[in-house]
Amino acid sequence: MTTKRLAVLTSGGDASGMNAAIRAIVRIALNQGIDVYAIYEGYQGMIDAGESIRKMTWDSVGGILHRGGTVIGTARCDDFRTREGRRTAAHNLLIHEIDNLIVIGGDGSLTGANIFRQEWPSLLGELVEMGKITQEVADKHANLTIVGLVGSIDNDMHGTDMTIGADTALHRITEAVDAISSTAASHQRTFVVKVMGRNCGYLALMSALATGADWVLIPESPPNIDNWQQKMVDDLKAGRKAGRRDSIVIIAEGAQDRDGNPIGSTEVTKVLEEQLGEEVRVTVLGHVQRGGNPSAFDRNLGTLMGSAAVDAVLAATPETEPQLICLRGNRIARRPLMECVERTKAVAEAISAHDYERAMDLRGSSFKAAFRTLRTLLRSLPHEALAGQKRLRLAVMNSGAPAPGMNTAIRAAVRIGLDKGHVIFGVTNGFQGLIDDTVTEMDWMSVNGWASMGGSELGANREIPSGRDFYAIARNLEKHGIQGLLIVGGWSAYQGAYQLYRERDNFPAFNIPIICLPASINNNLPGSELSIGADTALNNIVWAVDRIKQSAIALRRCFVVEVMGRHCGYLALMGGLATGAERVYLHEEGVTLRDLQADLDKLVTGFEHGKRLGLIIRNENANPIYTSDFVAALFEEEGGGLFDVRKTILGHVQQGGDPTPFDRIQSTTLASKCIEFLIENAQTESPMSAFIGLESGGIQIHNIEEMPKLIDEANQRPKKQWWLDLRAIAKILAQPAPQSQLDT
Ligand code: ADP
Repeated sequence: MTTKRLAVLTSGGDASGMNAAIRAIVRIALNQGIDVYAIYEGYQGMIDAGESIRKMTWDSVGGILHRGGTVIGTARCDDFRTREGRRTAAHNLLIHEIDNLIVIGGDGSLTGANIFRQEWPSLLGELVEMGKITQEVADKHANLTIVGLVGSIDNDMHGTDMTIGADTALHRITEAVDAISSTAASHQRTFVVKVMGRNCGYLALMSALATGADWVLIPESPPNIDNWQQKMVDDLKAGRKAGRRDSIVIIAEGAQDRDGNPIGSTEVTKVLEEQLGEEVRVTVLGHVQRGGNPSAFDRNLGTLMGSAAVDAVLAATPETEPQLICLRGNRIARRPLMECVERTKAVAEAISAHDYERAMDLRGSSFKAAFRTLRTLLRSLPHEALAGQKRLRLAVMNSGAPAPGMNTAIRAAVRIGLDKGHVIFGVTNGFQGLIDDTVTEMDWMSVNGWASMGGSELGANREIPSGRDFYAIARNLEKHGIQGLLIVGGWSAYQGAYQLYRERDNFPAFNIPIICLPASINNNLPGSELSIGADTALNNIVWAVDRIKQSAIALRRCFVVEVMGRHCGYLALMGGLATGAERVYLHEEGVTLRDLQADLDKLVTGFEHGKRLGLIIRNENANPIYTSDFVAALFEEEGGGLFDVRKTILGHVQQGGDPTPFDRIQSTTLASKCIEFLIENAQTESPMSAFIGLESGGIQIHNIEEMPKLIDEANQRPKKQWWLDLRAIAKILAQPAPQSQLDT
């Protein structure tokens, strides 16, 4: 059998995370024995050929994970829109015997790829007729396999929850809006911020949700009144009156009114200046949103999608239609490419036909739910409780170590609860606060600004109630008439909630719904694939490791970096995947002397062959004897003069900082569901206690009774850890260049 050959290209707008995808495609393909080429400058390179089509080696994609944009270049190419251009492109591919193509781009690029594949047989026919290729060549390459990956900051592709680059763009936007908010608050100013998104309001909507902006305009759902300007002004004035010091309006590039007239930042600014009587400043974020180092999420998304694209190439038969690699509920999947592209185009069509209901329907249920939640959160005051409505008394608290996103969750819970007409209490200092009765009523403005704040404003600790605590807690719950409790926290939150549940026969006050919202950087909670705070911690790790690596660029050095996670290796593995670590030590796998010897041998071979930098990531509890000190000392001693070793313990830096957009969005979404759960269960005879989380593609609520069978009590982690499946990919990508590659 002849070796398969594949080529990868990036086309259209660049997006952060494309490099991770290119690296994964090249290395996974080489590992499978496939020859792999990169086509530089998108479709233009396929037409120009020559130096634009280059064979890739293991090392040609080294050191690119952390870089924004695409190292193989991207371009828009009018020639590829013509049949002649595509015929030349086909010819150039055949010269290199390439008949598998992975295209990373937006819907335009992917449409082009599909047309190319449809025309492939006839293009080959023409090339034979023109005498450019023989019939034999045409027969040998009769089929062109196309696999698409979406690289787009807009997150505008139907069929995938996220596109490569969207999370990084959200990072850039939230950083900018957070910065603007603080200056706006200092001067009591109004800012209008314009973000990208011609037919897609994802960036505008999610950044507004993540930053606590006050008004947002997206293309899919224009204000449903004619005089929206007046409504905007009234809302901002009301916000000021309620005590907000800053007002932020976020506009998507493609915002329009319900008649389809574009709404620009200049118009909004003019209206606001005239009617608010204060200075209004505009910030058009522009290309800043595209740039910068990719977030941890985009690196890992690019890597996993790239790896899946090679699998799709290998699995393709002549009958397989072009496939799109998608993310569906935290798992990589394949879908027919053109179906996704067509449904994406349908959104743009619905918008231009002013059929906004259809546009929102096509965006999907979570987009619609996020928009609904946003409209509640940005209100300046809650709706009045309805006459005769039952007003429940619900309490919210944190428990465990502070995790970025806790405040965001509490803010959302308080506001959504108040807006539904209920009374909300905040408990400070975790379960200890329930014991000591530090329970106070929260109002709308008491959580103002909390969307973007790291740490825990309510305060938390790891206390788990026992013995006499129950009596004190029961008394205080009764004293305040609490009818439902939301605990945002980690392991201790779950344990504490379970204890209260078990004591409900002894203490009737505990016969209320209690729900736990997973918030722990360790990502070690049952029923939840991703807990709040873990994404922020991962980005902190990636940020630090990027810098650590740069510090050693000219030396022969190996770093042993210790990360948090307790007995859960999530941060270590995902941090390793995102930074290109060559070895990750996890508690789940353990560490043996044999492992250390093998790893040392690999390091020595690597450095002997010109390697300059080694990176090992060790989970803090990977092994009690083979500590980071031990590993570093062992490698240093045994490495002789070949390389030196430095140990870095990242420590609490991982827990700190403002939450990432993902942690803010996820905590808001979960908090909204938790409040719904409490309201529903508080009004039933036998209320359920539960824990919530993202699992199996959606948000699931588990009865708290299920907890013991889902957890590994001794190691304080869930029995099922989905991310362990990613170890295989991490291992392949991080290995040194295989022998076959050292010669090329
Ligand atoms: P994006 O892929 O980001 O949506 P564009 O729509 O600009 O960006 O498309 C990028 C490139 O893909 C174009 O410059 C062109 O070379 C190619 N392309 C786009 N649409 C088509 C098409 N209908 N037929 C052939 N090529 C296309």
